[in-house]
Amino acid sequence: MLDDLLARIEDQREALVALTRELIQFPTVNPPGEAYKPCARHLGHRLSRAGFDVSYVRAEGALGDSDRYPRINVIGRYHGRGPGRCVHFNGHIDVVEAGHGWSVNPFAGVVRGGRLYGRGSCDMKGGIAAAVVALESILAAGLKFDGALEVSGTVDEESGGYAGVAYLAEQGRFSRPQVDHVIIPEPHCVNGICLGHRGVWWAEIETLGRLAHGSMPFLGECAIRHMGAFLNRVERQLLPRLATRQTAMPIVPPGARQSTLNVNAVHGGQPEGHGGLPSPVVADSCRVTIDRRFLIEEDLDEVKAELVAMLDQLRHDRPGFAYRMRNLMEVLPTQTAKDAPVVRAVAAAIEQVTGRRPEFVCSPGTYDQKHVVRIGRLEDCIAYGPGMVELAHQPDEYVVIDDLVTSAKVMATAALHLLGVELR
Ligand SMILES: [Zn+2]
Repeated sequence: MLDDLLARIEDQREALVALTRELIQFPTVNPPGEAYKPCARHLGHRLSRAGFDVSYVRAEGALGDSDRYPRINVIGRYHGRGPGRCVHFNGHIDVVEAGHGWSVNPFAGVVRGGRLYGRGSCDMKGGIAAAVVALESILAAGLKFDGALEVSGTVDEESGGYAGVAYLAEQGRFSRPQVDHVIIPEPHCVNGICLGHRGVWWAEIETLGRLAHGSMPFLGECAIRHMGAFLNRVERQLLPRLATRQTAMPIVPPGARQSTLNVNAVHGGQPEGHGGLPSPVVADSCRVTIDRRFLIEEDLDEVKAELVAMLDQLRHDRPGFAYRMRNLMEVLPTQTAKDAPVVRAVAAAIEQVTGRRPEFVCSPGTYDQKHVVRIGRLEDCIAYGPGMVELAHQPDEYVVIDDLVTSAKVMATAALHLLGVELR
């Protein structure tokens, strides 16, 4: 029976490539959130043809939602024979901008040498298509089950997921009894199970100065020089300390198995422009945005306190140093247990389909699992999908077509395990 199902999915190879390509051809670039509606509709029509009950949920009033760029999510639910568990596949339909350096049209879905190229091919329209084809094949095979299967295409993952999974989770769409198990087909290779991710803290730090004429800087207080002193301490004290903090989480790539801090942006002094004319003024403000990734072994309050202590020390050591700090975003780390039902089911399916041992990984960045776990209070959630995470957001992003097919087989097998369907 399993062999029949896998053969059926193998026969859908062309259909799987075609669906991935169709999804890539909607340029769902976020920001600002282009083409969400037609892309969600396309996915909805497809699910509806397969017998799913389809609903569209616009995240009215959520961050980013507007009439010009409506945040439209699609959810399809297929009811089995009777009551039972629900297995949900969630993928984000948004992609990051194409950027430069492509050798093919990023929104055409070019097939070359066994690979399908395009923005979103691996992150993560290929994964969505694989999930759809996996579930269509279960239904086409006439397999009977109790419970339900769901697929959702959600928006804004790349910008935090607030109008996507977070919005739906707030409405109970990612909680029991609606949903029991969630698989997010983000790219982590065909035998990789992503258990979770590190934490994030974004903050803006502003150093404050006093305006003066640039020819007499001693009359003012230069905020940019104060920022320089802060960044110098980050460089000399904080970064070496963070590098010594290692996590037991199996993060891939291994370089991210430590605490990290990135300076995302720095802005100081006069705004750019003004026709390029310089103006001799001592800067009274300089701002940086920091992106601190912390470990499951760290405590967010301590992470913040560590930075504040450094700033306070500077205030003590450096005459005239003054600062302000503003929280921008915080996400706690999460890691699903290896013996959770969804992990066991996907692990077994990987072994059955590929003959390889599953590899357990964690993600250096966050993804929508955070909302499922925190808002939906559903711990039984992982990421599993085709493609390599290293290719996400890069020019010439691609997914290997064999991997699309293999992952669809794994997803179908895992879904049946979770629904309790006996597979001989
Ligand atoms: Zn993604």
